[in-house]
Amino acid sequence: MKFNKEGRYHKLDAVIVGAGLAGLRAALEIAKTGKRVAIVTKVYPTRSHSGAAQGGIAAALGNVADDSLEMHMFDTIKGSDYLGDQDIIEFFVNEARKTVYELENMGVPFSRTEDGKINQRPFGGHQSPRACFSADITGHVLLHTLYEQCVRHKVLFFNEFQVFSLLIKNNIANGVVAWDIRHGGFHTFHAKAVLLATGGYGRAFEITSNAHANTGDSLALILENGLPLEDMEFVQFHPTGVYKHGILLSEACRGEGGYLTNGKGERFMENYAKDKMELAPRDVVSRSEQTEINQGRGIDGKDYVYLDMRHLGSKKILDRLPQVRELALNYLKVDMITDPVPIQPTAHYSMGGIPANINTEVILDAKGTVVRGLYAAGEAACLSLHGGNRLGTNSLQDAATFGRVAGQSISKFIAESPIEELSQNHLDNANGKVSALRDGKGKERHSEIREELQKNMTKLVGVFRKEEDMLKLKSIIKGLQERFKDVSIDDKGDVYNMDLFEAFEVGNLLEFSEVMVEGAIARKESRGAHFRTDFPKRDDEKWMKHTLAWKTKDGVKLDFSKEVVTYMDRFPPIERKY
Ligand SMILES: Cc1cc2nc3c(=O)[nH]c(=O)nc-3n(C[C@H](O)[C@H](O)[C@H](O)COP(=O)(O)OP(=O)(O)OC[C@H]3O[C@@H](n4cnc5c(N)ncnc54)[C@H](O)[C@@H]3O)c2cc1C
Repeated sequence: MKFNKEGRYHKLDAVIVGAGLAGLRAALEIAKTGKRVAIVTKVYPTRSHSGAAQGGIAAALGNVADDSLEMHMFDTIKGSDYLGDQDIIEFFVNEARKTVYELENMGVPFSRTEDGKINQRPFGGHQSPRACFSADITGHVLLHTLYEQCVRHKVLFFNEFQVFSLLIKNNIANGVVAWDIRHGGFHTFHAKAVLLATGGYGRAFEITSNAHANTGDSLALILENGLPLEDMEFVQFHPTGVYKHGILLSEACRGEGGYLTNGKGERFMENYAKDKMELAPRDVVSRSEQTEINQGRGIDGKDYVYLDMRHLGSKKILDRLPQVRELALNYLKVDMITDPVPIQPTAHYSMGGIPANINTEVILDAKGTVVRGLYAAGEAACLSLHGGNRLGTNSLQDAATFGRVAGQSISKFIAESPIEELSQNHLDNANGKVSALRDGKGKERHSEIREELQKNMTKLVGVFRKEEDMLKLKSIIKGLQERFKDVSIDDKGDVYNMDLFEAFEVGNLLEFSEVMVEGAIARKESRGAHFRTDFPKRDDEKWMKHTLAWKTKDGVKLDFSKEVVTYMDRFPPIERKY
């Protein structure tokens, strides 16, 4: 069958790429104003990765212990290792409470305290129990509630459509072109505003907690359009990934009282974070774990340690963590009620992404010049809220709060702006990508290239990093990019052509991984999740700066002139101890 090169056409006020928490929340806000808004999503909305979130969503409600906005702000700043922009953090913690009550009013079934308030559990790096939760299916209930609200407000859904190109003309975004996965062929979504809400991109790594769809497609499209990415070297490794699989056992396990033990049966966190122990932030716990493993104190000298939940008892585990228990049972055949669970660090969250300002407008330089009509929110964006390291439960909050902000900014923009006409050749780019893969005669397999990338990313730019490894990785990626030019696919059909969209995704992984590695080589200090064994100290004098990175013909261009926004009198940088 031959796909239709002319494609199909849709005219809209706004198009949103991604149906996770950020995309849905934005769409709802726009739909409520009566505008025509469509969500284009490669996976069915309720299968977006937001639905996998278990632990909770942060807000300083103070329902179970004293809390304040100032404390939430301080914890987030300290957690970010002083790279988070403090104006964004201040806005975020202020909005967080409103966001939770708004979600509650929409129908989210939060778990309750005895006296009927929203219950809150402790999480790493937060000094007060701040995570509002619904047992261990928090993301699931948030996603389903928002999806229902979007359907009710007549958001148009284009499910299983994969965006292949981003349309920008005269520095104004005016749509996207997406492949219809079910039927084949392209659709043009012509709109006054485009929101990129494509989520995380942990699939660049072999061991990751991220869904298969988390391949950073929109990041590659940003680079392709000559726009920059920000702080890409900051990748969070979560300490409790299921051994060998990377699948996440939520931090709620430790929030509820789980321990980590090494091969000698010791609670090793005592030696790394005496006060907070297992509830130190993720970067600290992951490094401690990896150090135990590297120094031969893994279980039986191997590359894993234990998450021990047995002392909590079956009632608490079944009540608070039923899904987590099932994950360990299904993937390792280990029942956490009776046995400790083998775990290892897993690539989990991306602090970097598409640079955007407090209104979620995408920016194209350190001065903050905006690309008109282009917005980014959720994990794909970098507003620099999380700086060098994100605290658990701040991310669902980020997606929900800045999803709403994006919806408000876009509503205002589309009310005032005309639609920019499409270029005559607006389909060429997308058609070119499909033709290259379908009609190419090359012999390379995209799956082999992907595996090699993932294996080397985990090995060479993981929890601990050093220059020698990263230079090696840089040349490996260059080689893989060359090989990718010779990829062709076997499936020439239109319907559910997974060969096609997986190949496209591998190309995207290669593009932004290169940027991650270049940023990590250039940043000669250790901050947050970026730990260099050859530069083990944080260097505030030289490096309290964001990284902007462009892809040019001559390779990656870096710029460090984007300053971190700090309130020196309120939150002077201090050493991060827990
Ligand atoms: C296992 C796990 C547990 C987590 N637990 C928590 C937690 O307890 N608390 C917390 O705060 N955070 C948690 N996080 C992080 C948090 O869930 C995410 O950061 C957040 O949900 C991201 O939301 P999002 O809307 O940005 O993206 P997502 O929910 O990932 O949605 C991305 C969307 O983009 C679409 N998309 C992507 N590429 C394309 C394309 N090319 N074309 C069309 N559509 C595309 C996908 O179809 C999808 O709908 C967890 C993450 C993981 C992986």
